[in-house]
Amino acid sequence: MSIKLKKWDYIIIVILIIISFIPYVFFKGLIGEKTAQVYAYITVAGELYNEIPLTGQVSRKEFSIDTKYGKNTIVIKNESIAVVASDCKDHICEDFGYKGEVGDVIVCLPHQLYIEIKSNETMSKNQDIIAY
Ligand SMILES: [Zn+2]
Repeated sequence: MSIKLKKWDYIIIVILIIISFIPYVFFKGLIGEKTAQVYAYITVAGELYNEIPLTGQVSRKEFSIDTKYGKNTIVIKNESIAVVASDCKDHICEDFGYKGEVGDVIVCLPHQLYIEIKSNETMSKNQDIIAY
């Protein structure tokens, strides 16, 4: 009898632990969905030039980044970003193609242009890691 009680105690504890995690997972899921925005962070010579939201950006948008280092023509479509034309020497930046995954980068070394795909969700996760 006492063994049975212990077994049930154990099961109840496990159930309670699972229940206590449900609001956390549910809450986290809600927040994650609301804030998961993907951005293209564009820096020139190490300084922030522009940050462009990619989430929901399906229609084609074209603009140029014209700095003292040179000119790059940027296209945003289908939630991704690409350098479609550049007056740099190597044209490596044009070969990157469309990037839209968090962590992707496009680099134009002659123009000191650096485009990184980031999400504000990853940013808050990184801040958590720093905080702990
Ligand atoms: Zn280039």
